[in-house]
Amino acid sequence: MSEKKAATIAVRAGINSDQHHGAVIPAIHLSSTYGLKGFNEKGAFDYSRTGNPTRATFAQAIADLEQGAVGVVTSTGMAAVHLLCQLLDTTDTIVIPHDCYGGSFRLFTHLAKRGLFKLVVVDQNDPQALTQALATQPKIVLIESPSNPLLRLVDIANVTAQAHAVGALVAVDNTFLSPVLQQPLRLGADIVFHSTTKYINGHSDMVGGVLVTKTQALGEQLAWWANCIGITGSAFDSYLALRGLKTLPLRMQQHQVNANAVAEFLANHPAVEQVYFPGLSDHPQHQLAKQQQYDFGAMMSFKLKGGEAAVKVLFEKLQLFTLAQSLGGVESLISHPATMTHAGMEVEAQLVAGITASLVRLSVGIEDVNDLIADLSQALAASQAI
Ligand SMILES: *Cc1c(COP(=O)(O)O)cnc(C)c1O
Repeated sequence: MSEKKAATIAVRAGINSDQHHGAVIPAIHLSSTYGLKGFNEKGAFDYSRTGNPTRATFAQAIADLEQGAVGVVTSTGMAAVHLLCQLLDTTDTIVIPHDCYGGSFRLFTHLAKRGLFKLVVVDQNDPQALTQALATQPKIVLIESPSNPLLRLVDIANVTAQAHAVGALVAVDNTFLSPVLQQPLRLGADIVFHSTTKYINGHSDMVGGVLVTKTQALGEQLAWWANCIGITGSAFDSYLALRGLKTLPLRMQQHQVNANAVAEFLANHPAVEQVYFPGLSDHPQHQLAKQQQYDFGAMMSFKLKGGEAAVKVLFEKLQLFTLAQSLGGVESLISHPATMTHAGMEVEAQLVAGITASLVRLSVGIEDVNDLIADLSQALAASQAI
């Protein structure tokens, strides 16, 4: 059979695999422990921290979607980021982007302060700075594209080639797009990871993470550490994520129809100073987005005129965009990176990353898009009337 498409992989994951009852949908296995077949005769599973059938089905589905060898499911997205750090010795260097996810930035900077590894923070779109960073011969180069919250892209194939030339492994945070819209392993990366809390589960009712490796050996190493430090994902969360996953390709289609319309609306609105969305033809990396992504995603941010006072009114007046952290669920969310997702960053670091008080971020959901635009329209008007 030819290589299966994402929608088929997502829907068929685990279907019809039950040997005992013929259940079409894979069961959720909550048992913490598994009986041995006999003295010194282990079965496929023995203890749920180490391995669990529900988690294994979910891990395989994501590995298939990313076209990788091994999937390692973790308790949260941050647990997946933390797991990467287990590959580093105290003399090793990791290179991270200056505008990476706030939680990742906090983790790397604090662990590096304790001397667990060396850290280099760099703008990967600055060729000179990148060359300097790679001259440290890092063990890992972390890429996040598009970035949060300014939707800056990094040329994954290009940075990966340069990182490989100095012997580094490349790990890509693919949370903002999901494997349906971008497959970093196909662009050369060695590891791709997600907060499954976001698009992969898609219903904002669990937290989880996953890493997928290109090679079997690297996957086994990460799975060994995940069991060792005890950060594997729960059966119940794996079950929910597997259920959410079935509609991922379908959801992404609608997310994008809505996001494109919302971005166009914002770009033409007098209250909006600037929109950051790779799907707009004036986005500086619109061409790169077309080249390395299958579509533009549904995350965007914009600068509102009128500063923090206007932002406050906007948040108060919106009814269909909930003021909340997180992203990637069916429901539309709005957030204020400076005081929310990126509050863990020093103000100077925020400004270097381009995060100001008038910047707001949208996760465009799959509600009716005309309702979303009408809601934005009334709230934007109110924000300018103060
Ligand atoms: C949310 C997020 C994370 C962290 O995931 P959690 O599930 O919240 O621990 C990492 N990277 C990105 C890009 C995220 O959006």
